[in-house]
Order: sequence, then structure tokens, then C-alpha cells
Amino acid sequence: MPKNQSLKQIMADTRGSWDHDGTHPAVRENFLKVMECGTIALGAEVYASETDRLLVYHTCKSRTCPSCGYRATAWWQDELQALLPDVFYVNIHFTMPSFFWPIFQQNRHLLNDLPAIGASAIKRWAENRYGVSVILISVPQTFGGLLNFNPHLHMLVSAGGFRESEHSWIRFRFDKAELMQMWRLALSAYLWVALRTGALRSDWATEQLLTVLEEQYKREWIIYISPYMSRTRFLHYAGRYVRRPPVPLSHIVKITDEEVQFRAKNRKGKRMVQLLWPKDMFVATLGEHVPDRYRHAMRHFGVLAPRSKRRTSAALYAWLKQERRPRPARLSWSQSIRMSFGVDPLIDRFGHPMRWVGRLKPNSLIGTTPGPRIPENGVSGNNKPGRSAL
Ligand SMILES: [Zn+2]
Repeated sequence: MPKNQSLKQIMADTRGSWDHDGTHPAVRENFLKVMECGTIALGAEVYASETDRLLVYHTCKSRTCPSCGYRATAWWQDELQALLPDVFYVNIHFTMPSFFWPIFQQNRHLLNDLPAIGASAIKRWAENRYGVSVILISVPQTFGGLLNFNPHLHMLVSAGGFRESEHSWIRFRFDKAELMQMWRLALSAYLWVALRTGALRSDWATEQLLTVLEEQYKREWIIYISPYMSRTRFLHYAGRYVRRPPVPLSHIVKITDEEVQFRAKNRKGKRMVQLLWPKDMFVATLGEHVPDRYRHAMRHFGVLAPRSKRRTSAALYAWLKQERRPRPARLSWSQSIRMSFGVDPLIDRFGHPMRWVGRLKPNSLIGTTPGPRIPENGVSGNNKPGRSAL
């Protein structure tokens, strides 16, 4: 079985357990889309020449979809490669005490605020200490190695900042103890306010929760700061670790009638272990990590934030003597096939170009669509094409 089919198969096998009104709508919608990705269920574009005809199935664009997620990551890396100036970066990993995990699990709306809370801790630290504005991208993640619900943040941060008053770039070292304190204070204060204003539901009584908050505030929280990395190395790292799906397809080892065997990192994150889970449990756990529809997967803060003044970012680039590169144009599916496989999918068997001739609506039944006869095979938007003659 091709690797990219395995997740679809698990979803199809367990459909009865999640395709109903009791499932969180964002989760149900995502799973259905992933199952239909690259099939006529989502519709298709039709290309034709005198002799050949090619169907290009629409893809689902869901973040849970392994193949669409992979492409989205590649696109994200290209875009950041163009956007980020060529300075050093670090990856900062903010965790929270495990006592808070169930609070976020029960209050998914609070997850929306996490990226900004983490960003504010680092931004304030850099402003207070050095009077500079950093470049910062904040990516929330909800799963730990064993697919447990473990919300944490990956912060991609410049190892230095822009001092606007002097128009200069200041390099500095992050102080781990101080950053931990800033993060601990920011998140504790946020949860305290959420609790006080009734924005937080919990099985615990309010007084009990306040005690937990107070106790956890006194503890050392775990944060991690990576070594300095060049922009290119850093983006490679970010693509592999920060944007990875909960279970990369390469980690699924075997699917039996009842169970899924997959590789995961053990609790300390040091060793790979093999797990054997019932399929229903595997899919239900995956569902917990499907983001809500309108939730941003990541946000930019600091100098290059969308709301930051254009003047500031222009001044930063001028000082660094670097050119601000234009955003890369998104490749069409045929261009990306040409780039990846060196073949032009829109050239027919006789070397003649095929042109776009129409679009098939989702769930079009083959043979009942008016117009030219449609072949029974085609390609999904971004795979190597197969072709059929008329
Ligand atoms: Zn997809």
C-alpha cells in the first residue's frame, strides 16, 4: 500500500466512530477532506489536446493531510527564506506544567492566545534588556512524542534585534533563566485572568484552580534554547520539527484489521518506541490535534509582523545591507511537477500541449458529465501524472 494511502485507510476503516454529530465539527470536516483528497469527490480540472485528456483532481489543503501538509511546509520554508533577513536565529521551546494540559484540552479557545503570550514574553525581554525589536514567529503545537495532549510553543527568534533609535542591529545572548520567568509570569497571569473572568471551564473548583496556579508559579518551568543557526539551517530544522504532523506517515509501520503500529518518541523524547494502538483510539487521538478552522497555525511578531511599520522593516534591511526579496510566486501544480520530476504533465503522448478545457464539480459521476468523455483515471493536483487516452 502506498504510504500516503495509509492514513486514508485508517480513517475509512474507523469512519463509524467519528463521522457523526458528536464529533467536533472541525475534526469531522478535516477527516472527510483528507479521505477525499485527490479524488473526484473534491472535483477536478480537465486538460485536453486533440488526442489526450487529463484529469487533475483537487487536493484538500487540510493541515492534517500528510501530502497537503508536506507541500504547505515546503511552501512555508520558501516564503520565510525570502522574508527573513540573513542573520542568526534560535529555536526557543516554551513548555508549561502538565497540570495545565487538561485545562487547554477542555478549553480549546484558549489555545488561540498561546502564540501571542509566548511572543510577548520574548519581545518584552528583548525590549527591556536591549531596547531592541526581534524577529519572531510563534508556532503552537498540541502534541508530545506519544501523541499526548501537551500544548507548547516553538518560537523562531532572531538572535539579535533592531534598535530603531540608532538604526542598528544588536546581537545578544538569550538569558534562559530570565526568559523562563517572563514566560511563566505571562502564562500564569493569563490563566488567572481567564479564570477570574469566567473564560475558563474546568472540572476543578475555582479555588482549587487558583491554588494550582499559585503552586505551579513557584516551580521552575522547562524551556529550551537551541544553539545559534544560520537562516537556511534554521528553516530546515523548523520544517522538520516545528511543522511536522502529529504522526508523520513514515512513522506508520503496519495497519492490521484492528490496530495501527507506529513509531513515536518516548516520554523523555530521547528514544523511538513502537506503539500498537486500536485504530479507533489512534483516530480519536489524532482528532484532538486538529486545529479549529479559523485558528492561525503560526503568527509573526516583532519587526516583521504584518502590523509593524513598513518604515521599520525597510530601515532594518537597509542597515543590514540586505535586499528585501519579493514573495515567491506559488507554483502551479504543473510547474511543481516539472520542477520535481523534470517532465511537463501538460504535454501529451505525441508531444503536443494540452490545454485547460473545464472543471468537474465535486462528486461528478464519471460518464454522466455532459461534454467530452472522461477517462477513468487521472492525477491528483500535485502527484506525478498518469495519463489516459481518449
Ligand atoms: Zn490533502
